[in-house]
Amino acid sequence: MKIEILSIFPEIFVSFLNTSLIKKACDGNMLTITTTDIRSFAPPPHMKVDDEPYGGGAGMVLKPEPLFAAIMEAKKRLPTAKVVYLSPGGTRFTQETAYTASTWNELILICGRYEGIDQRIIDLAVDAEWSIGDYVLMGGEVPAMVVIEAITRLCTNVLGNKDSLAHESFTLGTDGNCLLEAPQYTRPPEFNGRSVPEVLLSGDHSKITAWRQQQACEKTKRVRPDLLEEK
Ligand code: SAM
Repeated sequence: MKIEILSIFPEIFVSFLNTSLIKKACDGNMLTITTTDIRSFAPPPHMKVDDEPYGGGAGMVLKPEPLFAAIMEAKKRLPTAKVVYLSPGGTRFTQETAYTASTWNELILICGRYEGIDQRIIDLAVDAEWSIGDYVLMGGEVPAMVVIEAITRLCTNVLGNKDSLAHESFTLGTDGNCLLEAPQYTRPPEFNGRSVPEVLLSGDHSKITAWRQQQACEKTKRVRPDLLEEK
């Protein structure tokens, strides 16, 4: 998969792209992620990327011309890419969105800043707006990292162990429900007076599966009953 990120602060992505599984996937050519500085498409000498909102109000808005030019340039490199604007005003980005996007070959992500981007960019060049949650962040860079991690870990060969994806939270189970994952434990068997549940040490795989299913159901009912209602 090829992903291009458009941002006025591309330096935010340096350690993200050079750490852990994202770096490994990029080094192994399973993933190509590039960043483009929107400011490099703004006219010199001031390289101005923002301006006051028409109609008044607080803050600044990202101007359409540099951003549009950056999108068009990215489209030359990734002609089949969907263009996604990260925005609190977008549809909610979920595990299901991540699964759908993991089948795409190319993706362009736009990170907004200030009060956001000029609406005409959304009308002319954006295929989807995604929100990572009902809160407002300072910019689209952290949301871009969130969606990149969620999407790319579902792409073939990015995770070392494909089984990691099978029973995790928000994944459709055989019972037709999307549950939260059951509690996980590792060594030592005893920690600060708390023991690992006996069944996990039993070696009885059918009992372990049943215990995990029951724990996942209980936790989902308690913490996220909406997941059961949405079905
Ligand atoms: N004025 C905008 C509003 O009220 O909807 C908020 C702009 S926010 C301060 C600046 C940028 O951060 C947005 O353009 C967007 O790219 C990003 N952003 C903030 N919260 C986000 C969220 N929940 N999901 C995705 N992107 C977000």
